[in-house]
Amino acid sequence: MTKRRCNYCNAEITEGRSDKKFCNAHCRSAFQYMLNISREPFYQKVKKALQVNRKIMKKYNLAGFASTRAATLTAEGFNPRFTTHSWKNSKGEEYKFIFEFGFLEFQSAGKTKYKLIMWQEYMN
Ligand SMILES: [Zn+2]
Repeated sequence: MTKRRCNYCNAEITEGRSDKKFCNAHCRSAFQYMLNISREPFYQKVKKALQVNRKIMKKYNLAGFASTRAATLTAEGFNPRFTTHSWKNSKGEEYKFIFEFGFLEFQSAGKTKYKLIMWQEYMN
């Protein structure tokens, strides 16, 4: 017979029903807790952050080209750490993209600003 081990602490289960998965109630609830946390894994969090970022980009980039204060976007929930890809122009400036919406951080009059652009065919 194969040894049964607790799904949570990995201790050997020596008693109880043959389908027993945890050594005790504590391990069972600790495992459930862990499971619930992992139901919103990293992928889901990133996906959500990208969706929020894209929505905000879309809102502020109506003309396909715009410039806005970083603080304005941050206040709406924009997080510049979550991007999908990047593109460097001929000046070596690196735009970060959230799908089709790109932004470039720059300083102007002591304020952090974003230049907003749309993804173009030539950027491939
Ligand atoms: Zn256990």
